[in-house]
Amino acid sequence: MRTAVVVGAGIGGLAVAGALARSGWQVTLLERADRVRPEPTAVVLWPNGVRALRALGLGAGLDAIATPLPDGGVRRPDGHWLVQPRPVPADRTPVVVHREDLHDTLIAGLGERVELRTGVAVRTARAEAGERPSVGDGRQRFEADLVIAADGIDSEIRRQLAPESRVVSSGCAAWRAVVPWYKAPRLAPDQPVGGETLGAGYRFVAASLGERGSSGGGSSRGGVYWVATAAGAPRPESPETQLALLRRWYAGWPDPIGELLDATDPADLVQQEIRELRPLPRAYGFPAGPGGVVLLGDAAHAMPPHLGQGACLAFEDAATLASLLRETRLPDAVTAYDRLRRPRAATVVRQTRRMSAVLQARGRLALRARDAALGTLSPRLLSSAATSAARWRPPS
Ligand SMILES: Cc1cc2nc3c(=O)[nH]c(=O)nc-3n(C[C@H](O)[C@H](O)[C@H](O)COP(=O)(O)OP(=O)(O)OC[C@H]3O[C@@H](n4cnc5c(N)ncnc54)[C@H](O)[C@@H]3O)c2cc1C
Repeated sequence: MRTAVVVGAGIGGLAVAGALARSGWQVTLLERADRVRPEPTAVVLWPNGVRALRALGLGAGLDAIATPLPDGGVRRPDGHWLVQPRPVPADRTPVVVHREDLHDTLIAGLGERVELRTGVAVRTARAEAGERPSVGDGRQRFEADLVIAADGIDSEIRRQLAPESRVVSSGCAAWRAVVPWYKAPRLAPDQPVGGETLGAGYRFVAASLGERGSSGGGSSRGGVYWVATAAGAPRPESPETQLALLRRWYAGWPDPIGELLDATDPADLVQQEIRELRPLPRAYGFPAGPGGVVLLGDAAHAMPPHLGQGACLAFEDAATLASLLRETRLPDAVTAYDRLRRPRAATVVRQTRRMSAVLQARGRLALRARDAALGTLSPRLLSSAATSAARWRPPS
């Protein structure tokens, strides 16, 4: 039986571990934390991410927890439309899912062939010709035919195998929360909650999880997911003070932004510095022994969340690797994975960086240029960057 060690039980690691186990692999999944715990936020999955999850055999689970995200358009803080909402065909509509629901779905997909070991912080990785690839935590070595580094942006494995790729700040921070419907009683029943608002260096996006007044799309975690991004560093203050700051920064912005911030419990607020990899690793596959080591998810291509593609790409990585391992022998699958995934990630990262420049525009001239660009070229910017990234299809 073929064996794999997957390092990191985030979204990417869980997805690939389950996929390999369902194809008959014996998988050891190593997680640094004592418990595998998702964030209490949500994630937008574009059609490429949805296709990847379906290719991984998780379509039914996803359908039970996903809420379609209609195009809510893009407004300026004064309410003026930069991009009007447009109808989008069902097969091009993204969905939003609560991360806890997604996590439950991925855990349910692990099956019995995955040995999950928590509290194991991998510190070393070996990928040398003629030797089985392995990782170690200083006490124990874990070797297998294939090692999958899904250990996120601060990946120790990437640091050792592709040290040229560095983690750098993207110059902004993000705040996210899910406000359960019952905590947002003042939202008018017919008031649209979705959509995006763009100011000078500030952005606010909101999306409904499930029907108002009901639970989520098959989940018990319905409500409104919001994410606010602001240029600058994360704030050292308490969550209460951070929320007060957000209320000040977004004061006077269109409804329901104020309402959502008022209804957010400080305990539910998740603040994060936005960071990315520059440059991207020179390789995603390192052949060794019978197979090798591959980088997957944020370990391979962490990027700012402006296009909402990080998790989608992690699922693409997992679906591509699982498909290659079904069709191709090791170690060829490792080199084929590298050949397929590196250009794909590079393209999405390039689009994301272009979006960073647009979204973080500050200063009157830059803002005017951005608004003009959004007003006239919107299909070539916001929507088309998103749609072209979303066009990906799994290898057949
Ligand atoms: C504000 C924000 C909004 C976002 N919104 C979206 C969105 O709408 N759509 C989208 O597609 N993406 C979005 N993303 C990106 C997405 O969240 C990430 O790309 C995705 O979670 C990456 O998953 P991962 O499994 O690769 O890494 P992670 O989720 O970081 O998981 C890595 C795992 O590895 C473990 N680990 C780390 N080091 C070690 C070690 N040494 N040994 C053992 N275990 C280790 C960690 O504990 C963790 O469990 C967003 C990101 C941010 C910051």
